[in-house]
Amino acid sequence: MSTALVWLRRDLRLFDHAALFHALKHHDRVIPAFIFDRDILDPLPRADRRVGFIHAALAELKAELVARGSELVVRHGRPAACMPALAHEFGATAVYANRDYEPAAIARDAGIATDLAAAGVGFETFKDQVIFEQDEIRTQAGGMYSVFTPYKRAWLAKLDEFYVRAYPVRPYAHRLASLPPQPWPSLADLGFEQGDAPVLPVGCSGGETLFNDFCTRLDRYHETRDYPGIKGPSYLSVHLRFGTVSIRELAGHAWRQGGAGAETWLSELCWRDFYQQILWHRPDVVEHAFRPEYDALPFPNDKALFAAWCEGRTGYPLVDAAMRQLNRTGYMHNRLRMIVASFLVKDLLVDWRWGERYFAEKLLDFDLAANNGGWQWAASTGCDAQPWFRIFNPVTQSEKFDPDGRFIRRYCPELAALGPDAIHAPWLAHPLGLREAAVRIGVDYPAPVIDHAKQRELALALFKAGR
Ligand SMILES: Cc1cc2nc3c(=O)[nH]c(=O)nc-3n(C[C@H](O)[C@H](O)[C@H](O)COP(=O)(O)OP(=O)(O)OC[C@H]3O[C@@H](n4cnc5c(N)ncnc54)[C@H](O)[C@@H]3O)c2cc1C
Repeated sequence: MSTALVWLRRDLRLFDHAALFHALKHHDRVIPAFIFDRDILDPLPRADRRVGFIHAALAELKAELVARGSELVVRHGRPAACMPALAHEFGATAVYANRDYEPAAIARDAGIATDLAAAGVGFETFKDQVIFEQDEIRTQAGGMYSVFTPYKRAWLAKLDEFYVRAYPVRPYAHRLASLPPQPWPSLADLGFEQGDAPVLPVGCSGGETLFNDFCTRLDRYHETRDYPGIKGPSYLSVHLRFGTVSIRELAGHAWRQGGAGAETWLSELCWRDFYQQILWHRPDVVEHAFRPEYDALPFPNDKALFAAWCEGRTGYPLVDAAMRQLNRTGYMHNRLRMIVASFLVKDLLVDWRWGERYFAEKLLDFDLAANNGGWQWAASTGCDAQPWFRIFNPVTQSEKFDPDGRFIRRYCPELAALGPDAIHAPWLAHPLGLREAAVRIGVDYPAPVIDHAKQRELALALFKAGR
């Protein structure tokens, strides 16, 4: 009778799950376990939304396991200590997990594998959270891709039914161990508060609801995805982050459906793999620019300007609406992420790492690879990045992507009565129009903290001098 533990991490589901599938196939008793990792949780603010998301997802998962006559084993501690202790406690001969490509996770897993091996316990890891991992997609010379388009071409050429097939769990579910009721920590036991009610549905049921809803819009994605005022994207990023959906199911669906909408969305899923492979090949990007010549640009890093950006009071309505969306909900639309990142770096002249850190604190879907990749793209320091001399104009971006100001009005209600002609740059509006809309610039809504045209010149000079 062999027993295995399945250590759940970024894969909080019981279907199409590589590690669970392999454990169930090879062992008589399989015990799913989750560790609330104190190394990660202790530095977080007490109302961190992500902990609430994970807790809710696990509650759903536990209920499903109990309904199948099994249980979820949960610990609160340091994995380096908990994992060997759990293996010993349950008499497991192996621990199964899905691979994580972040440098800290790789180091953690290597240490745990060594400790488990010393106790005679195996540590088996599997690809699960991406379609292609590590160096599965290689250039003809055998190296990594640092330009997206050829990477995508190679990714699509390799994609077939094999890579999007599901890892079925149900046929082997009788091997899930029956255990006595297991302790279940509340958020308070973990030292966290119940934050604001989540704006997106949680758990696997939430992921399924969002995906089903998105499937009805998928064929229009290429036309709608850039407009934050309308329901264009899938809102599945947090579910992809914590594995409450299966990437194989999502990518397989888009790939089989085809057509402009599905192909564009598949491309976004490909970006996700792209940045994961960059992080795997170049773990130094966590601290440094992908392109070393841009690592030490002399940003003035004005703290007051940074605070205005964080708090959504720069005086540029679309930037402010976006930052308020992030602060209020933990989500930000992709187009807005590009705009606010460019604004921070190239208008406010603040080091991209400051913005990256702020996003990491606030984003529900925070993912080291995608966040770092996105920031380095916007800051022109990354692989296949926006060229340094291309600088978004925050007003024309606003006119183009929120033409009627619908999104701005949602998050900057003090500007709600302004018409589409004035809402994108209210400081330029006619005084009569401002009075009618009850907007006093500098009183009800901030005056712009910088002048875009001037800052643009400074940014160009900074990049030219710094290279
Ligand atoms: C500065 C910046 C920071 C970002 N930080 C993150 C982050 O921390 N976590 C994160 O998941 N995404 C990040 N992104 C990428 C993108 O903005 C989000 O994935 C997307 O907005 C999530 O919304 P959605 O699920 O509705 O996206 P959809 O448009 O429905 O896209 C589907 C999925 O594709 C993936 N995806 C889409 N665009 C990208 C991209 N450019 N790079 C990598 N994956 C992508 C995501 O997993 C997303 O859920 C960042 C982008 C920028 C410019």
